[in-house]
Amino acid sequence: CGIFAYIGNKEAASLLITALKRLEYRGYDSAGIGIHGVPLKVRKKVGKVSNLEEDVAHAGNQVSGTLGIAHTRWATHGKPSDINAHPHTTAESSIAVVHNGVIENNAALREQLSSKGYKFVSQTDTELLAHLVQDLKKQMEGATYTEVVATALRLCEGAYGVAFIFQDEPDLLIGARKGSPLILGVGQGEHMLASDASAIVEHTKDVVYLREGELVEVRRSGFKVSELHKIISSLGKNSWSPRK
Ligand code: GLU
Repeated sequence: CGIFAYIGNKEAASLLITALKRLEYRGYDSAGIGIHGVPLKVRKKVGKVSNLEEDVAHAGNQVSGTLGIAHTRWATHGKPSDINAHPHTTAESSIAVVHNGVIENNAALREQLSSKGYKFVSQTDTELLAHLVQDLKKQMEGATYTEVVATALRLCEGAYGVAFIFQDEPDLLIGARKGSPLILGVGQGEHMLASDASAIVEHTKDVVYLREGELVEVRRSGFKVSELHKIISSLGKNSWSPRK
């Protein structure tokens, strides 16, 4: 339903919560945040953003960090619950993702990943994105996360706006969209991603509306927008699949 992400030099948690409140008007059943650290730190709660805010306040400096992703969920796959709220992560919390939309071939991809030993903890379609990226990262030796995420998304049918963070990349936020909006806010040494401009306006007037099928690689120093299909074709090898 709603996505916000921040990379910069400010403490992310309170900025993420404020942004989720801006997105509340769209309706949602649960909310969560993920902050970069080793491992990634995730807090998520069913119900109001104020529930999440209380939980985050209790967590205190455990959720300290200057790179993070946030989500308000409108359930399509799996009931509203703490576990089904986003972000979703790998078992080791090495990759975290928030997602708007629906992955139509969820059942088939989930089945393939489960048969390779990946353990699913939620009922969502979104969770498979974390496991799929982890699996492809292992297969695609030497590939960047941009290449791996583009490859993962190529295997997904349906609509998505997504934002990813990675434990081993303290200066990287990846966003991508297809059939769901995503907007980049450009600041001084800081950037934001959001599904709705209302969460960005208080940070910057300089915005880039990602186009259909685009991925953005965001760092504190700058950003790079690419077309998903061009990332894939530059890989030269088109046959990555979670089956292997
Ligand atoms: N399909 C995802 C889920 O059910 C995302 C829903 C949304 O857009 O909030 O968790």
